[in-house]
Amino acid sequence: MALYVQKFGGTSVGSAERIKNVARRVVETAEAGHQVCVVVSAMGKTTDELIDLAHELSPDPSRREMDMLLTAGERISMALLSIAIIELGHDAVSFTGSQAGILTDTVHGKARILEITPTRVVEALNDGKVAIVAGFQGVSTKKDVTTLGRGGSDATAVALAAALKADVCEVYTDVDGVYTSDPRIVPNARKLAKISFEEMLELASTGAGVMMSRSVELGRNDGVRIHVRSSLKSTEGTWIVSEEEIVEKPIIAGVSHDASESKITLSRVPDQPGIAARVFRALADAEINVDMIVQNSSQDGKTDISFTMPDIEMVKADPILDALSAEIGAEGVRSAEPVGKVSLVGAGMRTHPGVAADMFDALSAAGINIAIISTSPIRISCVVAREQLHDAVRAVHDKFQLGG
Ligand code: ASP
Ligand code: MG
Repeated sequence: MALYVQKFGGTSVGSAERIKNVARRVVETAEAGHQVCVVVSAMGKTTDELIDLAHELSPDPSRREMDMLLTAGERISMALLSIAIIELGHDAVSFTGSQAGILTDTVHGKARILEITPTRVVEALNDGKVAIVAGFQGVSTKKDVTTLGRGGSDATAVALAAALKADVCEVYTDVDGVYTSDPRIVPNARKLAKISFEEMLELASTGAGVMMSRSVELGRNDGVRIHVRSSLKSTEGTWIVSEEEIVEKPIIAGVSHDASESKITLSRVPDQPGIAARVFRALADAEINVDMIVQNSSQDGKTDISFTMPDIEMVKADPILDALSAEIGAEGVRSAEPVGKVSLVGAGMRTHPGVAADMFDALSAAGINIAIISTSPIRISCVVAREQLHDAVRAVHDKFQLGG
């Protein structure tokens, strides 16, 4: 007997028909003699619709009330799935995040899990029931309902798998697994049999939408074996495991991309100590996440600072940057340019020189200019013009012969 945590995303529970399909899959595992704890997301686009609804009432809705509102989405799917499983003749019981013992900090909208005491879940499993837990939510140390950030059901599933010491955390989704790149852009992208936590973390945090990056981090910290697979087919998906478990290590795991950021340039900023600190402190105080930063070498005591940030933060950032620019004596703020970021990820980069050069060659051969470069030990990211992003992804994917 094994203990499975099975997570089903919004598309997989998007209609009554699909919920029935999920119920059949869960019951199959349970009737094979295993214990099953299921984590569900809200049905289809429910979360987006609830957010839109709230914005019809307020441009800046109360964060506490937003969490109250959004957690309702997962409550709907957990109860419907429980009903469907019971209808198939297997016992099931659903729990909210709070009932499942998921304790978080008090940061509404992006709370972090502090601790899980899944007493009721364990009791249900020991009684032979399928335990269904609402994803994406918990209860704070102040006893308020919280949410874990977009895509947070993945975090619920992985954290529960760790707390329950599950044998595996299966993440069921509408794709077959993790691919070397987005198959909608790169038709010959290949499904990976295995990928390391580190590589998956880099891919997830640079635009690969399969899993929430925070959940991969949780998996890595607790050594949870994660299996990303299709909710419609029974084929093997992709295993996310520790690097040591991967025998045949490819140099490159994949190419991700992100088309959600803009590039801003503060031109002719005085090149003095403390200027960068002031600029980025002001943005941080407004809770704006800056991604990549470059400062050019200075000429006659002045320098340009360019950086990228999410498009959606621009409304908030604009007035702050205008004020700052005047305050620090910059020449001005060059208007935000929509950009794209292509990232090459692979643990083999640590030991194989020349990967960066090959990536830049590929972009240059495709006639694509690089605006900003940033790296980690196992990732190289290049900012390019947004309209060239898809070409950039294909060029890099081809160069490293990642296709099937
Ligand atoms: N329903 C939430 C969202 O749409 C959480 C999730 O799907 O994982 O972000
Ligand atoms: Mg998701």
